[in-house]
Amino acid sequence: MPKPLPPLNRAALLLDLDGTLLEIAPKPDLVSVPAGLAQVLRNLRDRLGGALAIISGRPVAAVDTLLPGVAFAVAGEHGAAFRFGPMEELERIPLPQAPAEWLAEAERLAARYPGAFVERKAAGFVVHYRLAPAAEAPMAEALSRLVAAAADRFCLVPGRKALEVRPIGADKGHAVRLLMARAPFRGRQPIFIGDDVTDKDGIAAAEALGGAGLFVPAVFGTPEGVRNWLGRLLDLGATTPLPWPERIKGDRPSDDLAGECIGL
Ligand SMILES: [Mg+2]
Repeated sequence: MPKPLPPLNRAALLLDLDGTLLEIAPKPDLVSVPAGLAQVLRNLRDRLGGALAIISGRPVAAVDTLLPGVAFAVAGEHGAAFRFGPMEELERIPLPQAPAEWLAEAERLAARYPGAFVERKAAGFVVHYRLAPAAEAPMAEALSRLVAAAADRFCLVPGRKALEVRPIGADKGHAVRLLMARAPFRGRQPIFIGDDVTDKDGIAAAEALGGAGLFVPAVFGTPEGVRNWLGRLLDLGATTPLPWPERIKGDRPSDDLAGECIGL
C-alpha cells in the first residue's frame, strides 16, 4: 500500500486544472466547469486553512476566470507566472529566452520533414513530429547539440511525439517548491494532482517535500474521479488521514510518459 496521506489540517492541495479537475476539451476555450465544483473547492480551501492552489499551463487570469474566488494561489504557464495570494499582483519568473538561431535551425530542419512543425512558446519552443516520425532522430540530435551548449539555462524535454526546448526554472516542480515555501502552504504536506507529462515535475517535487504526487490516469482514472474524491474529503474530520482513492493501479506516472531532461 502507498504511504498514508496527511489529514486536512496538515495537507496542502496543489491541483492541475485541465485533465485533472476538468475534462479535456478539443480546444482550451471550449472547456466546461461542472456545476458545484467551485463551491466544493472553496469549502475545501476553508478546511485546509487556505492551502489550496491551482498549478496550470493556462495563464493565471484564465484559471481565475474559470474558477472565480477558488484558489488561494495560482501558478500559471506551467510555473512561469504566479499569483501568490488572493489580492496579490501577478509575478513572473524571469526566464532565459531561447536564442533566435536555435529556433531558426529547428524550423529549417522541420521544413525537411513534411508534417513536422515548431510551436513557439513564451521562452522556448516545441518541435512536433507525430506526422513525421523520420524527423525524430535528426531533430533530437540537433536540439541536444544546441541545448548542451547552454545546459545551465535550457533543457531538452521529450513529450508525446514532441521535443521541447524549455528554459530551466519554470516547471510545475519549481511551482510546487515556491508555493510550499509560503503561507498558508508552508509547514503542510503537499498533495499534488496532475494528469500529463508536465505534471511529472510537480509529482516528484511533492514527493520530495514529504507529500504525495497523484497521477490522474493511474490513481483516479478520470477528472470525474478526482472531483468525486475531493467532494468526499469534506466529510472528513480535520485530523483524519485522507483516504486513498479506490481506483489505484499504481501511484506513479507510467514510463511511457516522458518528461525529464535527457542527454545533458
Ligand atoms: Mg492537465
